[in-house]
Amino acid sequence: MTIFAKILRGEIPCHRVYEDEHVLAFLDIGPLSDGHLLVIPKEAKAHIHELSDDSAAAIGRVLPRLARAVMAVTGATAYNILQNNGAAAHQAVMHVHFHIIPKLGSAGLGVGWNAGSLDAARAAELVKSMQAALSR
Ligand code: AMP
Repeated sequence: MTIFAKILRGEIPCHRVYEDEHVLAFLDIGPLSDGHLLVIPKEAKAHIHELSDDSAAAIGRVLPRLARAVMAVTGATAYNILQNNGAAAHQAVMHVHFHIIPKLGSAGLGVGWNAGSLDAARAAELVKSMQAALSR
């Protein structure tokens, strides 16, 4: 069982900010900046691609509201929403979670972004195969 499942079961305390039928939001104990918030579905899934439409919709419904609260309280005008899937993608807790991370001066999320350039033939191939995958 993950640490977030234990939080959901009330076995471990958290600094709860918001809760509804499908979603819990609480402060990250290792914040990248003041007000760093975690938003999790109550559904116990490790990765976002495994999430039910209902859980996904419930998170999508509250994320903007929670972001507004983080902005209002911290004074941040910029923030990142981060959602890691898989250890190789920096996921440490294997229960879906969204980080809301205010950018406060130099505090916040540091992003490495090694952009390439999109090749036209590869783009056409990707569009075709992704659309096929979506229709399966
Ligand atoms: P990730 O690398 O996306 O899996 O991030 C996991 C996050 O969970 C980290 O930012 C941790 O600081 C945070 N975290 C781990 N345990 C707890 C906990 N008990 N309460 C609040 N946040 C936690």
